[in-house]
Amino acid sequence: MAENFDFIVVGGGSGGIAAARRAAEYGARVLLCEPNRLGGTCVNVGCVPKKVMWNAAQIQQALALSGDYGFQAPPQVQFNWQTLKTARDAYVSRLNQIYADNLATSGVRVLRAAAQLQGANTVQVGEQTVQCEHILLATGGKPVLPQIPGAELAITSDGFFDLPRQPMNALLIGAGYIAAELAGMLHSLGSRVTMLLRKDRLLRNFDNMLGDTLMTQMRAAGIDIRTGVSCSEVVRAGDGSLGYRAAEKGAAGENAEDSGYDCVLFAISRAPNVASLGLAKVDIAPQPNGFIAVDEFQNTGAAGIYAVGDITPNAQLTPVAIAAGRRLAERLFGNAPPRKLQLDNVASVVFSHPPIGSVGLSEQRAIEVYGKSRVQVYQNQFVNLRYAVGAHKPPSVVKLVTVDPQQKVVGCHVIGDGADEMLQGFAVALNLGATKADFDNTIAIHPTAAEELVTLR
Ligand code: NDP
Repeated sequence: MAENFDFIVVGGGSGGIAAARRAAEYGARVLLCEPNRLGGTCVNVGCVPKKVMWNAAQIQQALALSGDYGFQAPPQVQFNWQTLKTARDAYVSRLNQIYADNLATSGVRVLRAAAQLQGANTVQVGEQTVQCEHILLATGGKPVLPQIPGAELAITSDGFFDLPRQPMNALLIGAGYIAAELAGMLHSLGSRVTMLLRKDRLLRNFDNMLGDTLMTQMRAAGIDIRTGVSCSEVVRAGDGSLGYRAAEKGAAGENAEDSGYDCVLFAISRAPNVASLGLAKVDIAPQPNGFIAVDEFQNTGAAGIYAVGDITPNAQLTPVAIAAGRRLAERLFGNAPPRKLQLDNVASVVFSHPPIGSVGLSEQRAIEVYGKSRVQVYQNQFVNLRYAVGAHKPPSVVKLVTVDPQQKVVGCHVIGDGADEMLQGFAVALNLGATKADFDNTIAIHPTAAEELVTLR
């Protein structure tokens, strides 16, 4: 006889685990199915190992400044990729175990097998058929490779975390979060880095100031960023190195082909993992780009079947998936009044070099939404005190986007040291509807970079 559950969660990443544990805490009988490592993208091939690499790059940057501060460094501080990878992988393994322990503590049953929908209340998990009242789809996404000749010679961010050796001459293709982050890390750790952007700027989904400032600083640091280059083929050159071909020369006249690379990495967005879910059996038709549409309460088109995280079209951010999963569990099993995701002011950080923090509307989006005459922008560029005593003076930039005479702040954007830890509190302010006057009335913390946001004129 098929086993019965209240809630089956398909996928053991951030969203699925959060929903499963919250539901079990309310007394639901919960089964979570995950054939791979627990923790999903974030823990295994995303946020966590990425942040470890970023931290390593930050340490290198501090070493580079140490002379300015009177430290006499040894002639050369060696960086060992394998040592870092071993420590990083061990940390991720510990997290995998912690996730398993937490699920057990919460009373969630875990089956280490893939799940396939058989009907509105029936799921095939490995060899077993299980019945349930509610089903959550939380299988996340995976990085995409383009369908061009030679793509199999390239890797994605998944492959990046498997690299046994540091690529010393890397080609990164893409213009979003992942390309910007990996380029900065690799360069800081000593790799030569070339980036191919098919258009004219980095991070086009962010305020233009952020992408432009980042590109200027990355170029100044020595990263070769080629714009207007659409890679049409990845090639293995006669000398064994990797290279690319493009239909046209780059915007600055760069050759339409090049080689000499030991790693080609595409970071050109991610696609949802929906292929093996059996969606047709429950009459869920994914959108043309593969995502599963949900309403504001995570309902799919099929009664009793929900979706959270990177298989939905919402922002592909771990905290968004977790918040969606917990709210859903509270709604289904907690007798709580339905709470939906508030997606207006989701802050995010690009762990680039320098880092970026951003919440709310970009200036260009605010103008689209409100019209140019209603938007007023405040911006300041400054040099962080960290660089006061040396010759290297990278600029930081802060920006507030406000609307209407009351100057409600609808966007807050920062690039520079500390931006990553700065934006969470400002996101609270935006969610509370803060105005420019509220920012002005807030006494600054001195000397910090964050104070620049409450002293803008
Ligand atoms: P993004 O959506 O951030 O950026 C991908 C960019 O690559 C596109 O915007 C596009 O820019 C460019 N691109 C798309 N197709 C091609 C192509 N065929 N050739 C060349 N360039 C192309 O995707 P990522 O893969 O960087 O990241 C995926 C998601 O993961 C992010 O959206 C984010 O939600 C999440 N993430 C979050 C992080 C964080 O919070 N710190 C870190 C990493 C990922 P253009 O159109 O300008 O060419």
